[in-house]
Amino acid sequence: MLRALNPKRTLKTLLHTHRSPKTLIPSSISRSLSSTPTSPPPLSQPPPPPPPPPPLPQSSSSTEAEIRKYLGYTVLLIGCGIATYYSFPFPVNARDKKAQIFRYAPLPDDLHTVSNWSGTHEVKTRTFLQPESLEELEKIVKEANEKKQRIRPVGSGLSPNGIGLSRAGMVNLALMDKVLEVDKGKKTVRVQAGIRVQQLVDALKEHGLTLQNFASIREQQIGGIVQVGAHGTGARLPPIDEQVTSMKLVTPAKGTIEISKEKEPELFYLARCGLGGLGVVAEVTIQCVERHELVEHTVVSDMKEIKKNHKKLLSENKHVKYLYIPYTDTVVVVKCNPVSKWSGPPKFNPKYSHDEAMQHPTAGLVTCRIVPDGSEPDINELSFTELRDKLLTLDPLNKDHIVKVNQAEAEFWRKSEGYRVGWSDEILGFDCGGQQWVSETCFPAGTLAKPSMKELEYIEELKQLIEKEQIPAPAPIEQRWTACSKSPMSPASCTDENDIFSWVGIIMYLPTMDARQRKEITDEFFHYRHLTQLRLWDRYSAFEHWAKIEVPKDKDELAALQERLRQRFPVDAYNKARKELDPNRILSNVKLEKLFPMSETV
Ligand SMILES: Cc1cc2nc3c(=O)[nH]c(=O)nc-3n(C[C@H](O)[C@H](O)[C@H](O)COP(=O)(O)OP(=O)(O)OC[C@H]3O[C@@H](n4cnc5c(N)ncnc54)[C@H](O)[C@@H]3O)c2cc1C
Repeated sequence: MLRALNPKRTLKTLLHTHRSPKTLIPSSISRSLSSTPTSPPPLSQPPPPPPPPPPLPQSSSSTEAEIRKYLGYTVLLIGCGIATYYSFPFPVNARDKKAQIFRYAPLPDDLHTVSNWSGTHEVKTRTFLQPESLEELEKIVKEANEKKQRIRPVGSGLSPNGIGLSRAGMVNLALMDKVLEVDKGKKTVRVQAGIRVQQLVDALKEHGLTLQNFASIREQQIGGIVQVGAHGTGARLPPIDEQVTSMKLVTPAKGTIEISKEKEPELFYLARCGLGGLGVVAEVTIQCVERHELVEHTVVSDMKEIKKNHKKLLSENKHVKYLYIPYTDTVVVVKCNPVSKWSGPPKFNPKYSHDEAMQHPTAGLVTCRIVPDGSEPDINELSFTELRDKLLTLDPLNKDHIVKVNQAEAEFWRKSEGYRVGWSDEILGFDCGGQQWVSETCFPAGTLAKPSMKELEYIEELKQLIEKEQIPAPAPIEQRWTACSKSPMSPASCTDENDIFSWVGIIMYLPTMDARQRKEITDEFFHYRHLTQLRLWDRYSAFEHWAKIEVPKDKDELAALQERLRQRFPVDAYNKARKELDPNRILSNVKLEKLFPMSETV
């Protein structure tokens, strides 16, 4: 979640303010360095001169100069020795110690650190504005536009790729989080866009309403969840932006505009999944559904069974998702359906207790002698995902170790088969585990009447790739489905409303705060992601989720990505709208500019 107002000092600032390279070298030494230039020989040289005659006895002044020179060298050597000794006061066991995160001195009060949920993207900014009303927001946007001051809209700041972050400045609607109007008849709610999903669901309870579908977590602001086209699962249920029926957008060039399916529909659909680039979403009207309970049924299956039953599973369940466990044939199938009005919730006695289900992974920890030292909670108090993190920490990039952890996870799920009943917002959430890198792609999967089955081929190829390349891929690979969205910038946008889309997420956890280990996991994850991109994305017309797309550093790769995005999304129309509504691009950030560079034709 967005972590702002958390003052820290960067290493960079420290270096800037206190350590210019010049002051690191004592002036006497620097002088002696500059007094003994060693210029390299020219590349093409004349033939070497004849050997010099034997040296004549030197005058006393030249001998003194020589002595001074060698004294200078000696001082320099001793100085370097002392500096080295004091710069590296490593204790004997230093080699075995983990790299430590720097301890920062406090930052100035007005410098805010904002980082995403996994700590993989972080910015520091002096401009972090939190208006309390529409009028205040309008004033902020107007003034920022006049000053050409960047104020990127940011929600809860959760996006795995930090798409809402900008070091140049941000505006955040956390204080604009009210429910403005509930229309019970139409089952709609009008809210300020800073309200968080959980807050909204809690407020809707008393009106007997809820949202149609949910992502795995409920901490997002409504502005944030809608703007990236976020989704849950259910082949008949579209991504969340499709439930938005009208919006109030505060724009730098045109002030506040109200758009809906009826009023400026083209802009409305474009701005629904507008990535924060077309205006600050101030208010949103959302189509809700009646509050309902769901029965969740978890079963463990395998690929052969899935292939046989896939069509039925997709069409007969309101929500269904598959969790694949790499290096095993296990597919965890999670189905959620409304509680039957006639028979009520199922009567079910689980075969195993929760403790029994946890036995296998816990045994792994005990075998590895990770027994809590008193400062940590008891193993028995950890959730499964916490246990998984603990197991992964032991050797996160050792493929053979990951295979064992995955096997323990498969066993955990086998013993966790069964039913759970609860309100839809509780049941549809999912414990995603600890800090992580993720990449999620979305691609067409036919229609409900005629699924292409391509999504199962995608998974089979992905699993083969993992095994062939020996990727230390942890579980799960999560596969979900949605109906399509009319927002043209949505990865699930379509022209035929019967089209369905599959979303596949791959993951690597960051179960450690050791900076060096995090970097190694990051490199390995990007290698994994790159291989899936090379082998799968083009062939399946797969595009990354906007909150998970990472911008390549390499120029050619970036150009290829920009071209690819142009083929799938109406980039010119999006940029044209950006230019009209935000000509100074105060709502943009580096990521947006790189994904959608303004071309001459716009
Ligand atoms: C653990 C975890 C689980 C997740 N599970 C899912 C999942 O199941 N399904 C899924 O689809 N996604 C999932 N996500 C991604 C998440 O739903 C999105 O990243 C979502 O955008 C986060 O909302 P936010 O409020 O944090 O937005 P931010 O990350 O702050 O911003 C996202 C985008 O919205 C824009 N924005 C935010 N507020 C406004 C506003 N008021 N006006 C204009 N633009 C605005 C920003 O500019 C940015 O472009 C998950 C993320 C995490 C960390």
